[in-house]
Parts: sequence; structure tokens; C-alpha cells
Amino acid sequence: MCWIDLRKRSSIAQQQHTYKTRACLVLSDFSCVVVFDHRVFANRSLTLENIKCYGFDMDYTMAMYKSPDYESLGFELIRDRMVSVGYPHELLRYTYDPSFPTRGLVIDTTYGNLLKVDSNGNILVCSHGFCFLKGEDINNYYPNKFIQRDDTDRFYILNTLFNLSGIKCTFRNVEFYSYINNLWHGDLLMSYRSMFQDVRDAMDFIHDTGTLKERTIKNLDKYVIKDSNLPVLLTRLKVVAKVFLATNSDYSYTKAIMKYLPKQSWRSFFDLIVVDTRKPLFFGEGTVLRQVDTDTGKLRIGTYTGDLQHGTVYSGGSSDIICDLLDVKGKDILYVGDHIFGDILKSKKRQGWKTFLVVPELNIELKVWDQKKNKSLFEELKRLDVFLAEIYKHLDSGSSECPDIDAVQTRMKVLTYRMDMSYGQMGSLLRSGARQTLFASQLMRYADLYSSTCMNLLHYPFNYLFMAPPVLVSSHPYILYRKQIAVLS
Ligand SMILES: [Mg+2]
Repeated sequence: MCWIDLRKRSSIAQQQHTYKTRACLVLSDFSCVVVFDHRVFANRSLTLENIKCYGFDMDYTMAMYKSPDYESLGFELIRDRMVSVGYPHELLRYTYDPSFPTRGLVIDTTYGNLLKVDSNGNILVCSHGFCFLKGEDINNYYPNKFIQRDDTDRFYILNTLFNLSGIKCTFRNVEFYSYINNLWHGDLLMSYRSMFQDVRDAMDFIHDTGTLKERTIKNLDKYVIKDSNLPVLLTRLKVVAKVFLATNSDYSYTKAIMKYLPKQSWRSFFDLIVVDTRKPLFFGEGTVLRQVDTDTGKLRIGTYTGDLQHGTVYSGGSSDIICDLLDVKGKDILYVGDHIFGDILKSKKRQGWKTFLVVPELNIELKVWDQKKNKSLFEELKRLDVFLAEIYKHLDSGSSECPDIDAVQTRMKVLTYRMDMSYGQMGSLLRSGARQTLFASQLMRYADLYSSTCMNLLHYPFNYLFMAPPVLVSSHPYILYRKQIAVLS
């Protein structure tokens, strides 16, 4: 990934540029990037000056949940629900382990495996329950070391942070049933597919019945991060552009969370508030737009067809209706959300909105990446790559010479594994060695901007030009390495 967004358009931007460039240099792929805790990264050039409207998702975007407390709560509720529908009481002894799940992973519901794959479906890491499989074991399941990830009946992609509790519960079950080696339960077949379906049903249950929301609201201090900068950001945005909130949550939950965040006058920060949006449906045909009675929380009957009324809260609708009500075009909107599919991919592909993906995991990714040990591992990986390039430099299709590169390849695998392990059991969210994950490829394709939190917009003036560098379709690592030396020197 190449991120150089440092073209200045004002003296403020100039100062920020200098400051950020000094902050620290970290290497990614074979190019250099500037990493900074407050950084917003750009995949495509974008001028904030042209943004006439900022839209926000709520959960995991404006409202950041405390990890691992919130995931742990979700895990316990799902686990308890599973036991209440007949799963063994032994499950109750399991607790949430935050080091295991990683967003962007794929569940194979046929074999009960958790897979980390690249953008094409090539398998990078595979685990069964909490047991990590090696090469020959992976081949037994997947002889081609490849999955057809379009087969959505079989493969389920973990797109949202809400999934983390559920995935952990699934794999506790897989671990449990694998341990007792008893997938047959009387005359009933306990398949991984049925187990996964039961976990999904339990997840739906805790969401649909409001159990998770109820427990969250009862203890907001424990589960929700209160950031005093949120009202500052919203106040500043309101001066330069229109601002709207579009959330899948219902009104009463939205009200409880938002009242907790920017406090009493939260509705005044927005030109438009839409709840029950049912994204991704919202970015297509949508649903009926209704008004919400903010006193009772009930929906008014009938479809709302009037003009935008300030202070009114709406339910449902679609992205087209939002554009009409706010009188803005899709290209003038920057939409900020955390769901790679429901928020980012759909708004970009179906409506041409500018997109900003919130990736809270980025803070940990950057911290690990910045560790001296990791840098030296990556430096060695790069040196080996250049070494390989040197070996083949003077060979062409007429050469009969066959260089022995086994030792280099083995060392590269060891380095990749050691780098992966520093991020947790499933490795980095974005890569495995020098290979990008499915999540990284989607992030690069659909998110114009991304950062660990939307609050990082505070560190840029609203006329800032995020500049993505021109990237060749494909570059030889040797050439890139030379370029990099030139950039650093
Ligand atoms: Mg969200």
C-alpha cells in the first residue's frame, strides 16, 4: 500500500505536513509511508474542500465500543443463548479471548475452519477451532489451497466488528465438539454448518430482542468510549458542510448512545438523522421513509414525502431520498462507516459516494508494525527479495541455469510466520508477510480514505487535499527497492 497524501494547500497543511513527516517513517510493502497516530490514509486523491456533505454511521464509527469488554459481553450473551437452546452447559466455562478473532476472516461452514485469504481466495492461514493447521493438513481440506469465496452459502466473511463475539462462540463450539470427537448427537447430526447457523441465530436473537442494547445502555461507562472531541468535530463540520447520521440502530438506542456522547443537544449537530436504515438495502431500493415521534420513539404511519424538516428524525428511506432531502449529489458526500460491505462498498459502488472507512484495529497494527523487532524482520524480508531479484537479474528465457533458492524461500516463510505472530494468532489484519489479505484489498478498492477513528479528521483543515501517489500496475521488487532508497536518501 502506498500512502502519500501530503500535498499542501494552505500554510496549516504545510505545518501539518512537516510535523507528520517528522513523526516517523514506517515501511509497508516495498514503499515508504508516514505513520502517525492521528493519520488519515488515502487510497485515492480527495479534496475535503469539495465535500459538501459528511455522513456518519453510528455503531463503531461515532460510537466506539470499549474492547474487549463489549465483545466479551456479546460473547457471553451468545454463549448463554446457545446453552438455553440446548447446547451443553460445559460451554459456560468458556470466556472471550481477544487475541484470536480478526476482521476480514472467512468461515468455512462445511469444515468448521476459519480462513485468512488473499483477494483471490488463496489461503494464507487456516485454523480448525483454536488449532492452527499446517501445510499438509490444509491440503487435506483444500487441495488447491484456494476457496471460491463467491460461494456465500458455504463461506461467510466477517465484515463487521459485531461478528467477533459470534465467531469466538462458533470456534469454542468447534473446539468443544472436536475435543469430545462426537459430531453425532444421538440420531442427530451435529454438523459445523448447523452449529454456525445456531450461532448466527443466537447473534440475531441478542440483537433483535434488544438484549445486547439493553445491557449496553445500562452500563455505558463500561462499554462505550466517551470522546470529548466528538462535539468539537461535529461543530466544526457543521460550519463547512451539511452533516447527517444514518444508522441501522433504532431511535431509542441511537438516542441513548448519542445523548451519552455529545450530550444533551445531540440532534442539533445534524441536518438530518435517519435510524433503522437497514444498510446495505439503504444504498439500493431502501425502505419506506417514516417520521419518528421523538417523544414516544414510535414511528408515524405513512410515507414521509415532504421537504427536510430540521430537528426531525426519520426512519428507513434510502440513499437517494437522503440526497434529495439534503439537496446534494452523491459525489459531494463523504460517508464515514466501519462496515466494509454495508457502509463502504455499497455506498461507493451503487451511489458513487466518497468513502471513509473506520478501522479501529489500525492502532494496534501500526503499533506492532512500528516495533523494532518487526522492522528488522521486514528489512530482512526485503533484503531476501532483492537477493532473489539479483540471482535472476542476468537470466532470461534462454538460460538453462537453475538457481537453488530453497534456503531463501524457507527463510522467507520463517520471517513471514514470525511477523504474523507478533499481531496475534491470526496475524495482521492487512497482510501475511508481503501478501495482502482480502480485507486489505477491499479496503484499498472501496475506501477513498481510512483511519483508526473518524476523530482524526480533526487534524486536517477542511480544504485539505489527500493525495494518493500514482501507482504502476505492477512493479518488480528490485526496482521498487531502488526507488525506495532514492526516496529515503
Ligand atoms: Mg457501524
